[in-house]
Amino acid sequence: MHVSTGAVGGLLTGSRVGAALLGPVLHVVCDRLPHQDIASRRFEIASGVGGVLALAIVRGPFDPTTIGAVASAAPDLEHVLPLPRPGGRKLFPSHRKAGWHRPGGVSATIQLLVAGVLLGSVLATRFPYRPPSESSHGAATVET
Ligand SMILES: [Zn+2]
Repeated sequence: MHVSTGAVGGLLTGSRVGAALLGPVLHVVCDRLPHQDIASRRFEIASGVGGVLALAIVRGPFDPTTIGAVASAAPDLEHVLPLPRPGGRKLFPSHRKAGWHRPGGVSATIQLLVAGVLLGSVLATRFPYRPPSESSHGAATVET
């Protein structure tokens, strides 16, 4: 879910810096939504890495969607890497604050479904999202 929401964030910002900044914010928001965690850490890692690889292959390693996916998922690396835990607590704000990560709510199945649809949509979008420019004001343009 963090990979796919980060990818969508990257698509919407259309900027590498924007995607890198938005990713951790999306992570905090997603951690806050009550949700069941997937029981298999191995599956979580494999699906996350697979999602990022798919984005890197289809859209490019430096595409905002790939950067957004990495930026959004990266905070969870501290769950698997031996990073320092000052005061016995984890580093990322939504992991440090007791009670931020709430169990229950959205089932793992629904999350996987939504994540798959989001990631599939980003992968299927061939061009970066471009907000309408000042000059187009809703007028239909025909590309030649
Ligand atoms: Zn997290």
